[in-house]
Amino acid sequence: MTSSFHELWAELLPIGRSSASGGYRRYAWTAADADCRAWFRSQAEARGLTYETDRNGNQWAWQGDPLAGDAVVIGSHLDSVPDGGAFDGPLGVVSSFAALDELRHRGAEFTKPVAIANFGDEEGARFGLACVGSRLAAGQLTPEKAYELTDGDGVPLPRAMEAAGYDPSAIGPDPERLARIGAFVELHVEQGRALDLSGDAVGIASAIWPHGRWRYDFHGEANHAGTTRLADRRDPMLTYAETVLAARAQARLTGALATFGKISVEPNGVNAIPSLVRGWLDSRAADQDTLDRVVAGIEAAAHEAAARAGIDLKVVRESFTPVVEFEHALRDELGRLLGGGIPVLGTGAGHDAGILSASVPTAMLFVRNPTGVSHSPAEYAAEDDCVAGVRALADVTEGLACA
Ligand SMILES: [Zn+2]
Repeated sequence: MTSSFHELWAELLPIGRSSASGGYRRYAWTAADADCRAWFRSQAEARGLTYETDRNGNQWAWQGDPLAGDAVVIGSHLDSVPDGGAFDGPLGVVSSFAALDELRHRGAEFTKPVAIANFGDEEGARFGLACVGSRLAAGQLTPEKAYELTDGDGVPLPRAMEAAGYDPSAIGPDPERLARIGAFVELHVEQGRALDLSGDAVGIASAIWPHGRWRYDFHGEANHAGTTRLADRRDPMLTYAETVLAARAQARLTGALATFGKISVEPNGVNAIPSLVRGWLDSRAADQDTLDRVVAGIEAAAHEAAARAGIDLKVVRESFTPVVEFEHALRDELGRLLGGGIPVLGTGAGHDAGILSASVPTAMLFVRNPTGVSHSPAEYAAEDDCVAGVRALADVTEGLACA
């Protein structure tokens, strides 16, 4: 099994890697994406699996009858964020092929069809919306909305799909396909350090944390940085700075996460007191109550600081995703199949498994990432841990599909 994983991993590794940054640039419907897709197809065909792409461009490799129903589906995605790491996504797809190899080696007798899936455009790096392939399939993104997506060069999604050889007029919900899935298990590199801290190679996901984005507009008064007395200023940058510190304090107090990572300033002059500072808050927490508390706390602190400084503050919630609890029965089944004692952890990151969990019983396995870093070339998993992940995925697939 080690050699199977190692060889598969090595084959995929050079595709879409930037020699300048060492990171991956595998964006939806680009040449690098096409190379990843060709790799997937060749792996399917080399194993005698039935290969197909669905109406939304997601790739499937079937062992057994795709129409039989109650299928066990494993897989993840092959695309990347800008200068992403090697593991986020591809680890799940490579591990799926390696797990199937392992089960064939074990002589497993399948009573259900098994499919390996590669969901398209998971990261949303090119068109700005994550999980487009699974969202379309699950009916959580309408074709009309998808047609409106454009990339940074103004290329609409349908043109990009067409250029890559796919038919954009076919996209849309795929309920019959999803109804034929009995369980979907996505293996993924952990995007934090929980497993590193607990000393485990593999864990099971409990839930994807609720998360949202809020826009804070701090309106002050533009003026000359060299001639305006401090006492006469209405400087929104100061109130913004206080709010950033308040966000950190609230997050620490509540055990949540709160980040101001994007800002725009008007007039954005080095010698000008700003008239407007616009900052975006990203906040996530293990449960809705905690998230509500941290967000309300930050907003209250910002209003208080604004009132003190004569700043007008407007806060707008731009997006929100409620908690995704993975199905308890399937989660418990995975724990049983893996022998118990396996850690169960939540995550602050979104996944295709989170989207599909609304339509299909879904579970996730995480593989230890000792750096905790993700969406960066520093993302890492040791080969021994990857092999442990393959074994866990094989055990789970055997338990679900050979029962
Ligand atoms: Zn991912």
